[in-house]
Amino acid sequence: MTAKLNPPQPEPSLDSLPYWESLKAGVFALQRCTACREWQFPPLDTCRHCAGSLSLQTVSGRGTIYTFIINHRPSAPGFDELLPYPVALVAPEEAPHLHIPGRIVGAANEDIAIGRSVMAEVVDHPGGEWKVPVFRIIAT
Ligand SMILES: [Zn+2]
Repeated sequence: MTAKLNPPQPEPSLDSLPYWESLKAGVFALQRCTACREWQFPPLDTCRHCAGSLSLQTVSGRGTIYTFIINHRPSAPGFDELLPYPVALVAPEEAPHLHIPGRIVGAANEDIAIGRSVMAEVVDHPGGEWKVPVFRIIAT
Protein backbone atom coordinates (compact mmCIF):
# COMPACT_ATOMS: atom_id res chain seq x y z
CA MET A 1 0.00 0.00 0.00
CA THR A 2 1.31 3.42 -0.88
CA ALA A 3 0.39 6.44 1.15
CA LYS A 4 -1.31 9.18 -0.81
CA LEU A 5 0.89 12.24 -0.72
CA ASN A 6 -0.51 15.72 -0.82
CA PRO A 7 0.93 18.60 -2.82
CA PRO A 8 2.48 21.66 -1.18
CA GLN A 9 -0.17 24.00 0.16
CA PRO A 10 -0.56 27.74 -0.40
CA GLU A 11 0.95 29.74 2.45
CA PRO A 12 -0.80 33.10 2.23
CA SER A 13 1.07 36.21 3.29
CA LEU A 14 -0.64 39.25 4.74
CA ASP A 15 -0.74 40.68 1.20
CA SER A 16 -1.99 37.56 -0.57
CA LEU A 17 -4.49 36.37 2.06
CA PRO A 18 -7.46 38.25 0.51
CA TYR A 19 -6.70 36.62 -2.88
CA TRP A 20 -6.67 33.15 -1.32
CA GLU A 21 -9.78 33.83 0.80
CA SER A 22 -11.59 34.96 -2.35
CA LEU A 23 -10.66 31.74 -4.13
CA LYS A 24 -11.79 29.76 -1.08
CA ALA A 25 -15.19 31.43 -1.53
CA GLY A 26 -15.16 30.33 -5.18
CA VAL A 27 -14.46 33.79 -6.59
CA PHE A 28 -11.60 34.50 -9.01
CA ALA A 29 -10.48 38.06 -8.32
CA LEU A 30 -7.31 40.06 -8.94
CA GLN A 31 -5.74 43.08 -7.29
CA ARG A 32 -6.42 46.46 -8.88
CA CYS A 33 -4.99 49.81 -7.89
CA THR A 34 -7.59 52.22 -6.52
CA ALA A 35 -5.53 55.19 -7.79
CA CYS A 36 -4.10 54.37 -11.26
CA ARG A 37 -6.48 51.42 -11.97
CA GLU A 38 -3.64 49.04 -12.98
CA TRP A 39 -4.19 45.34 -12.34
CA GLN A 40 -1.44 43.32 -10.71
CA PHE A 41 -0.48 39.76 -9.91
CA PRO A 42 0.89 38.28 -7.72
CA PRO A 43 -0.68 40.19 -4.84
CA LEU A 44 1.48 42.85 -3.16
CA ASP A 45 0.98 45.39 -0.40
CA THR A 46 0.88 48.42 -2.73
CA CYS A 47 0.61 49.16 -6.46
CA ARG A 48 3.92 48.53 -8.22
CA HIS A 49 3.21 51.39 -10.64
CA CYS A 50 2.20 54.24 -8.30
CA ALA A 51 2.39 52.80 -4.76
CA GLY A 52 -1.34 53.37 -4.43
CA SER A 53 -3.62 51.18 -2.38
CA LEU A 54 -5.12 48.03 -3.85
CA SER A 55 -8.48 46.35 -3.86
CA LEU A 56 -9.52 42.90 -4.96
CA GLN A 57 -11.83 42.98 -7.96
CA THR A 58 -13.72 40.03 -9.42
CA VAL A 59 -12.74 39.25 -13.02
CA SER A 60 -14.68 37.41 -15.71
CA GLY A 61 -12.36 34.41 -15.75
CA ARG A 62 -11.97 34.71 -19.52
CA GLY A 63 -8.46 34.82 -20.87
CA THR A 64 -6.03 33.44 -23.40
CA ILE A 65 -3.18 30.98 -23.09
CA TYR A 66 0.05 33.01 -23.03
CA THR A 67 2.25 29.92 -22.88
CA PHE A 68 2.09 26.38 -21.51
CA ILE A 69 4.00 23.19 -20.85
CA ILE A 70 2.98 19.55 -20.79
CA ASN A 71 4.41 18.19 -17.55
CA HIS A 72 5.62 14.61 -18.12
CA ARG A 73 7.57 14.11 -14.88
CA PRO A 74 6.30 13.69 -11.34
CA SER A 75 6.92 17.06 -9.70
CA ALA A 76 4.07 17.68 -7.26
CA PRO A 77 2.58 14.96 -5.05
CA GLY A 78 -1.16 14.67 -5.59
CA PHE A 79 -0.98 15.24 -9.33
CA ASP A 80 1.10 12.26 -10.48
CA GLU A 81 -1.99 10.33 -11.58
CA LEU A 82 -2.71 13.14 -14.08
CA LEU A 83 0.63 12.82 -15.91
CA PRO A 84 1.20 14.02 -18.55
CA TYR A 85 -0.76 17.18 -17.73
CA PRO A 86 -0.71 20.77 -19.01
CA VAL A 87 0.20 23.83 -16.94
CA ALA A 88 -0.29 27.25 -18.50
CA LEU A 89 0.23 30.92 -17.94
CA VAL A 90 -3.05 32.64 -18.77
CA ALA A 91 -3.52 36.29 -19.70
CA PRO A 92 -6.85 37.51 -18.24
CA GLU A 93 -8.93 39.55 -20.69
CA GLU A 94 -9.15 42.46 -18.22
CA ALA A 95 -5.38 42.49 -17.71
CA PRO A 96 -3.61 40.74 -20.61
CA HIS A 97 -0.18 41.87 -19.37
CA LEU A 98 -0.57 39.57 -16.34
CA HIS A 99 0.18 35.86 -16.46
CA ILE A 100 -1.77 33.63 -14.06
CA PRO A 101 -0.45 30.08 -13.59
CA GLY A 102 -2.86 27.17 -13.58
CA ARG A 103 -3.56 23.73 -15.00
CA ILE A 104 -5.59 23.38 -18.22
CA VAL A 105 -8.45 20.96 -17.61
CA GLY A 106 -10.89 19.12 -19.86
CA ALA A 107 -8.81 19.24 -23.03
CA ALA A 108 -6.67 16.72 -24.86
CA ASN A 109 -3.06 17.84 -24.60
CA GLU A 110 -2.78 18.06 -28.41
CA ASP A 111 -5.66 20.56 -28.49
CA ILE A 112 -3.86 23.07 -26.27
CA ALA A 113 -2.22 25.98 -28.07
CA ILE A 114 -0.91 29.44 -27.31
CA GLY A 115 -3.64 32.01 -27.92
CA ARG A 116 -6.61 29.72 -27.28
CA SER A 117 -9.41 31.18 -25.19
CA VAL A 118 -10.00 29.79 -21.73
CA MET A 119 -12.35 30.27 -18.80
CA ALA A 120 -11.20 30.06 -15.20
CA GLU A 121 -12.77 27.65 -12.74
CA VAL A 122 -12.03 27.53 -9.03
CA VAL A 123 -11.35 23.99 -7.79
CA ASP A 124 -10.22 22.31 -4.57
CA HIS A 125 -6.47 22.04 -4.14
CA PRO A 126 -5.85 18.45 -2.96
CA GLY A 127 -4.88 17.86 0.63
CA GLY A 128 -5.97 21.08 2.28
CA GLU A 129 -8.54 23.80 2.69
CA TRP A 130 -7.51 26.03 -0.24
CA LYS A 131 -8.84 26.35 -3.77
CA VAL A 132 -6.92 27.26 -6.91
CA PRO A 133 -7.85 28.49 -10.38
CA VAL A 134 -7.69 26.09 -13.33
CA PHE A 135 -8.56 26.92 -16.92
CA ARG A 136 -10.87 25.25 -19.43
CA ILE A 137 -10.62 25.88 -23.19
CA ILE A 138 -13.73 27.59 -24.58
CA ALA A 139 -14.94 28.29 -28.10
CA THR A 140 -14.44 31.86 -29.28
ZN1 LIG B 1 -1.36 52.38 -9.06
